[in-house]
Amino acid sequence: MDYKTTLTVCPYCGCGCSFYLETVDGRLTGTLPNAAGPVNMGKLCVKGWNVHEFVQSPRRLKSPLLKKGGELTRAGWDDALDYAADELKRIVKEHGPDSVAFLASAKISNEDNYVLQKFARAGVGTNNIDHCARL
Ligand code: SF4
Repeated sequence: MDYKTTLTVCPYCGCGCSFYLETVDGRLTGTLPNAAGPVNMGKLCVKGWNVHEFVQSPRRLKSPLLKKGGELTRAGWDDALDYAADELKRIVKEHGPDSVAFLASAKISNEDNYVLQKFARAGVGTNNIDHCARL
């Protein structure tokens, strides 16, 4: 049995709590808070304590879904991105830039978040942008 712990940072919000992910034979099995973490000092909220569960969940989405005939069906990334871009353009053209909104993520880099707000403001023309880490 190969047991390992890997120090990392929680992906769920912008607080930046750190913890050790436990793995047994390459499979995630648990989360241990980092007592030396300057932000969380050995504590985690319920999301952090259970962070290892979503990675191997059979319910995790691994490909895009498009609704066809009222049913969600698996789609390729090119088809899903083309559909999203076409619909975004159509909605903005028909209803104006403030008819859409953008939700950024704590799970992407600051640079990616910057690009998204720039796209929303300068590209689409709306200030409707928010972030999941704004707790
Ligand atoms: S407060 Fe909870 S969700 Fe946010 S970084 Fe810490 S453990 Fe993760």
